Amino acid sequence: MTKALIIGGGIAGAVTGMALRRAGMTPVIYEAYATGADDIGAFLTIMRNGMNALEAVGAHQPVIDAGFPATNVEFLDKSGTRIHLNPMRSGARTLKRSVLYRVLHDEVARRGIELHHGKRLVSASVVDGRVRAGFDDGTSADGDLLVGADGIHSTTRSIIDPSAPAPRFTGLTIAYGYTRATSFPLSADAYRMISGGRAFFGYTTAPDGETWWFSRAPELDLATANRQDFVDLLADDNTPAAQIVRSTDDLFITNAYDVPETRLWHNDSMVLVGDAAHAASPAAGQGASMALEDSVILAKCLRDITPVPAAFERYTAIRRDRVERLVAESAALGSGANRRAAPPKPEERHWLYDHAIDWAAPVA
Ligand SMILES: Cc1cc2nc3c(=O)[nH]c(=O)nc-3n(C[C@H](O)[C@H](O)[C@H](O)COP(=O)(O)OP(=O)(O)OC[C@H]3O[C@@H](n4cnc5c(N)ncnc54)[C@H](O)[C@@H]3O)c2cc1C
Repeated sequence: MTKALIIGGGIAGAVTGMALRRAGMTPVIYEAYATGADDIGAFLTIMRNGMNALEAVGAHQPVIDAGFPATNVEFLDKSGTRIHLNPMRSGARTLKRSVLYRVLHDEVARRGIELHHGKRLVSASVVDGRVRAGFDDGTSADGDLLVGADGIHSTTRSIIDPSAPAPRFTGLTIAYGYTRATSFPLSADAYRMISGGRAFFGYTTAPDGETWWFSRAPELDLATANRQDFVDLLADDNTPAAQIVRSTDDLFITNAYDVPETRLWHNDSMVLVGDAAHAASPAAGQGASMALEDSVILAKCLRDITPVPAAFERYTAIRRDRVERLVAESAALGSGANRRAAPPKPEERHWLYDHAIDWAAPVA
């Protein structure tokens, strides 16, 4: 049986493991962090296309159970006036990243897929016709192919192409937070997006009443950025944003990067999926969904096409245009942080959300 070494136990790594197992291979996942590597600060919405990808490998139900639906997105301007109300494609689920990691890892374990923690890839090469991954603890593993699911700062990407450029800073600093202040009523299935005068702000309310929010601002100094910076940026708007931030105890603040183009997605024995291949700024909320699509399409290609390099070639051909279009659109949406153009009309998003993967259909 073909043994696949999967580097990274995040969203793409876990689901690539499930998809390759379903394709009849033996996947083994190697995650750098000792525990889940769960970035507990942020939350995610898995869009309908991402949920479709999960369904293709029968992994959607745990995510449905752990998340809550997102059905509407309301856009306000800085005066608090509603400028749009867009229905979201049915099926989208919102959940904390740490919860998503947990349910995916539970599913990996339930399917009997090996996942090793504390294994940071530092090298990979072909030895006697097989690929050998070297880890920072001095150990190594051999397999028939290697999948780099190691995120935006991918080591695998640099091994495949040492000249691959570093991720691009988008110019945006992002804050996330949670508050239980009860004065911001919004139904649990609705998102509210606010184009503030100086920063963009979005929030939703979980079924238990906790408000989950994020804000995108022009670059702040991460060494000093704090809650008051975001309160100040939002204070002039006639919206609840500044009050929500003020009522939040702990903020998670980070800079946003993207990877607009990766020249080489693979060599003869190694291939990239998810953020390792292409990373979008968070504005479109699609990075995780695209990673899930990659995982399933790669497994289908490896199931249906031989030899392995031809399967990698076909996978890249199927995926590249779609993900590069998404990364470009996300960069445009987020540019200027607060000057979000009119939100895309639902009919302009069919190409994105209505993407379904039929697991049984052979890859042409
Ligand atoms: C602030 C923020 C908000 C976001 N919001 C959304 C959203 O709402 N919706 C959405 O769809 N997307 C969102 N995204 C994007 C989304 O998080 C990513 O697209 C998604 O996590 C990509 O999954 P991945 O598995 O490719 O990478 P990751 O989730 O980054 O997983 C990579 C894994 O590889 C491991 N790893 C790294 N290097 C090594 C190594 N050398 N050896 C072994 N393991 C390694 C890491 O520890 C990690 O577990 C957001 C991103 C950010 C930064």
